Amino acid sequence: MQTDKLRILSQNLWMALRKLKMRWAFVALLPLFAIFTAFGTSPGNTPVKVKVKTIVQDVTLPLPVRPVSLDEEFWQMDQVRSDDTLANLFKRMTVRDEDAIKFLMLSPEARAINTALIPGHSIEIKTNLDGKLLHLEYEVDKENILVADLTPKGYQVSTEKLLLQKHEMLSAAKIVDSLFGATDEAGIPDAIALQIAEIFSADIDFVEDLRGGDILNVVYEAFYNAGELMKVGNVLAVEFVNDGKKYTAIRFGEAEGKYAYYTPDGRSLHKSFLRSPVEFTRVSSNFSKGRFHPILHRMRAHQGTDFAAPQGTRVKASGDGVVDFIGRKGGYGNVIVLKHDNGINTVYGHLSKYESGLRRGEKVAQGDIIGYVGMTGLATGPHLHYEFLQNGTRKDPMTVSLPVNIPIDAKLKPAFEKASRQYLAQLSMLNQRQMASKE
Ligand SMILES: [Zn+2]
Repeated sequence: MQTDKLRILSQNLWMALRKLKMRWAFVALLPLFAIFTAFGTSPGNTPVKVKVKTIVQDVTLPLPVRPVSLDEEFWQMDQVRSDDTLANLFKRMTVRDEDAIKFLMLSPEARAINTALIPGHSIEIKTNLDGKLLHLEYEVDKENILVADLTPKGYQVSTEKLLLQKHEMLSAAKIVDSLFGATDEAGIPDAIALQIAEIFSADIDFVEDLRGGDILNVVYEAFYNAGELMKVGNVLAVEFVNDGKKYTAIRFGEAEGKYAYYTPDGRSLHKSFLRSPVEFTRVSSNFSKGRFHPILHRMRAHQGTDFAAPQGTRVKASGDGVVDFIGRKGGYGNVIVLKHDNGINTVYGHLSKYESGLRRGEKVAQGDIIGYVGMTGLATGPHLHYEFLQNGTRKDPMTVSLPVNIPIDAKLKPAFEKASRQYLAQLSMLNQRQMASKE
């Protein structure tokens, strides 16, 4: 409606300008004619009085006139607001169509718009001049749209899959103080930042280990519809330079579900233990060390690592193992002890609670959630007290953690090497861009 008005307005303006120009042309030409006539009709130097008459005439060129038709269609787009109902959404979009509202309110196929409108989701409608609804499209989720069409038989409602175009995105970021700070700055979606933290979880703790000046280069999948980012997919390749040490991961697999991350020379990035058992989230990443004051444990010897994290942050089993102890124990508060191969035990203290149903003797896999950060026992702030013991003595998990051997099938090796070369070239290009921007 609005654009149409604007179009008519601009047409009128254009016509007015044309008229104006014609007038100016006439007025401007008249004196010339007059002078020419003066010379032409002055034999014998007889002064001849020249009559100058100004003629103003409207000269309009025939313009194509747009007839206003009752069949005229208007497209409008809007976003669902927090307390919208279908009725007030239609009212705002000037749909004056009781039949359509009634039908859509009762249609079970139109559930997404009659009972499950989601704030922020977009809706596009086509109406005629009378406000009759001709067509409607509603964003159900990132992959589906609800379509209602007026046909001679009435409204037809269907849910259609959005046509998504997959793109490979190349992004570079530089860490100032946090991973999310850097990815926000570079426009890298949160889901990709979390995947990166997960991919390198055996080597880098993205809260404790980050240094200002660390470099991130990433290639990831993004899905677009009509130029709009609908969702992100997987990280395809990523390079992280942490404190001068470079870590690279390439995604490769023979079939969906069998994908894993490898070093460029084909070694699995998966290790027997995680660098940090605390789940990395946007909140935990901002839970700065500054707010954490190490507590003087009145345990006989403090032989663990304290990971500061907000109350309730999920705690993961750092390796495959069996629950050896779950319960309360002095200064540890609520504690879980896992038993692993090679005489290794891991200890998780001060938990606010355990994962429900977790019992002694139960098997857990690396990354399984076993409990939640708290401050039970001798702790004055929420944190995870973590110990890594081999035959009863404290060890550095980084030196004990071994790569979990998932070899690339020999017949897939050439395909891996080809993919690896291509991704490394893209990462190197990003790296050069980072270098160039530094100068
Ligand atoms: Zn501790």
